[in-house]
Amino acid sequence: MSEEYSRPPVGSPFPEIPGEEAGGILTIDLDAVASNWRTLQKRVGDAACAGVVKADAYGLGLEPVVYALSKQGCGVFFVAHISEGKRVHAVNREATIYVLNGFFPENAETYLHAGLRPVLGSFEEIRQWLVVFPDKASAPPAAVKVNTGMNRMGLTVEEALSPEGKALLSQLNLKLIVSHFACSEEPGHPAVQKQLEAFRAVRGAWPGIPGSLANSSGVFLPEAPYFEVVRPGYALYGGNPTPGKPNPMKPVVRLEVKVLATRSVDAGAAVGYNGRWTAAKPSRLAALHVGYADGFLRSQSGTDDKIRAGAAAAGVLIGGTPCPVVGRVSMDLTLVDVSALPAQALKRGTRAVVIGDGLSIDDVAGPAGTIGYEILTSLGRRYSRRYIGKDL
Ligand SMILES: *Cc1c(COP(=O)(O)O)cnc(C)c1O
Repeated sequence: MSEEYSRPPVGSPFPEIPGEEAGGILTIDLDAVASNWRTLQKRVGDAACAGVVKADAYGLGLEPVVYALSKQGCGVFFVAHISEGKRVHAVNREATIYVLNGFFPENAETYLHAGLRPVLGSFEEIRQWLVVFPDKASAPPAAVKVNTGMNRMGLTVEEALSPEGKALLSQLNLKLIVSHFACSEEPGHPAVQKQLEAFRAVRGAWPGIPGSLANSSGVFLPEAPYFEVVRPGYALYGGNPTPGKPNPMKPVVRLEVKVLATRSVDAGAAVGYNGRWTAAKPSRLAALHVGYADGFLRSQSGTDDKIRAGAAAAGVLIGGTPCPVVGRVSMDLTLVDVSALPAQALKRGTRAVVIGDGLSIDDVAGPAGTIGYEILTSLGRRYSRRYIGKDL
């Protein structure tokens, strides 16, 4: 496309770490991100598919992701922080950028200069904005968020429809009405219908103002609640927006880490900090060059308690064979049981697959007791990051 996109410093803001020095190689497939965006855009037809790139594009690197999405024709971005909005603006000067976490008067200049649009979520916040930008004709565009059931941010529906609300909103250069699903990954949940009805009521009071309700899972709801703008994040990065069903998105992330050492232990050997795993039989273990400081979460530890409780074990793949985590995950090291592998299949420097080869971010999240979103945003800074894709 054209000159308005400045080629991003790929890998920024992380220090470049050469592959041979790193404990792990994190590969981020920007073609898959682009393809996922196209899939979502196609699905929502005439609505605009925005890109949610908050939290450094869910940990994958805001600049390269914004660049790749911009090349596809994505022109609307949502961030949580002002600092993230400035980074989007630096990559794509033409982008429409909404800041979900809203406005404080001390940042008015930044909103103006970086072309940011606040998502305003209370009468107080709207009034603060109007003090700085009282003239609708010259004010920067803004969005308003309405709480339709999440009870996190936003005007209540009653506030939005009240005379006071109407008077306040009519003073804004209002470009978007936003709400957010609390349960969109649970199709058929009664909250979905309730939120949809509430959102329609508010939209109805502001004919001509575009609306935006759907996140990734919202795009896959049978109700097709697309309105004018959809706001997927997780699905762009390969997360499954339809839990329990096959993932319609392409995987984006691959993470491989080095095996540092192997050892054999006797039955009864206690392993790792506080000896929370005990070998039931003679076992072979491998120490991996990854730990909780790298986002290999401590909740992925393999303890006797968990095994007795029948909890799903976290693990990695070595040569395609699942190897469960044993003992507590340490800051820089993790132990896995490699007894199932032939000894010759493993040596110092062999790579274990933490994410990839069918082990998805959703698969990793389950035994860790969390969601793939947290797996992505926890990905550490000590990996050698590689971006692949034709637009680099
Ligand atoms: C994070 C976020 C999104 C994106 O949600 P996904 O589930 O990642 O698609 C959309 N809207 C709001 C308000 C958000 O905070």
